[in-house]
Amino acid sequence: MPSKVHKSLDDAPRMKKRDAIETRTTSHSYTPYLPFGSLVYTAWVLMHRFSGINSKKFSTIQLYGCGDIRAPNLFGLRSQHTVHSYFGKTLSTEEVLHRHSLFGYYSLGLNENDKTEWRNRLTKERSLRGHFSKTLRIPKTEKLNANLKWCIDCANCDQLKIGFGTWRVLHQLPFISTCPIHQTQLCAVCADCQSPLDNGTKFMLPGENCSTCGSSQFTKLARIQNAAYISLIKQVEDVFQTQPKKFRPVAWNALMRTYALSFGSPRDARETLSRLICTRWEVESEDEISDLLSYPLGRGYIQSLLSGHAANTPLAAQLVVLDAMHSAFAT
Ligand SMILES: [Zn+2]
Ligand SMILES: [Zn+2]
Repeated sequence: MPSKVHKSLDDAPRMKKRDAIETRTTSHSYTPYLPFGSLVYTAWVLMHRFSGINSKKFSTIQLYGCGDIRAPNLFGLRSQHTVHSYFGKTLSTEEVLHRHSLFGYYSLGLNENDKTEWRNRLTKERSLRGHFSKTLRIPKTEKLNANLKWCIDCANCDQLKIGFGTWRVLHQLPFISTCPIHQTQLCAVCADCQSPLDNGTKFMLPGENCSTCGSSQFTKLARIQNAAYISLIKQVEDVFQTQPKKFRPVAWNALMRTYALSFGSPRDARETLSRLICTRWEVESEDEISDLLSYPLGRGYIQSLLSGHAANTPLAAQLVVLDAMHSAFAT
């Protein structure tokens, strides 16, 4: 007796091409569970492999409902389609964005309106063109299409738990070179041929051998020997998981006002905070933290954040400032 699937496939020639794609992508029989914090690109790789289709463009159409999404889609464009095609409606579009894309990190510093507007664009649009406004606080210098980074320990844990490694959202942040969970240096390129394990076009997964030369050895990124850096990346992991509201403009400005009022003058507040940050990071000037991270936190970010101009600085600057304030309370 023909199964339901056979019936659908038999019917496929009489269907429009697009309808046939929908029939396959809504079966979900080959789409494994994706752990919290795994990049939606992992779903792309899995869908490509499990579908048994050689065409990468066809896999892209299956997952996103269109063939022109630029890899590795770090911000979860077209989540309105992936909730159906991969997640089988077990997650909402917002949950897909929060758990499986950099939206879960970058949206933390936005007000509700900007966050909703950005989410609505990401769920439907095919390109990030026009998304990099100051409002979204994504510095243009970020290397968003760089080689994908990964942690050997995370890959091993994934393989033990679910049978395959997954790309992690937070590892792709430009200032992250160490795994926030294992404090292991991340890898990105092959130690033998210097090819990236993946740059969003190879359909590889962490823990696999180099697809260019077959090597299993990968070069680790340079270690940042700094306790404040480890604290920063742990906070990044924490805020991504817990989604606090304290970084949004209204809450942040209220926090900064309260802090500044505990000093005799705004200048005292700024100088004290600057001293706290420099002590914590073991640097002479807070601008050196940008050099240490190879990431532009913005000149005068303490002044900006204390003055209620969070929009001028990336979210990482807020994390650095808050960490230094907490360090003062802890001592
Ligand atoms: Zn790890
Ligand atoms: Zn290689």
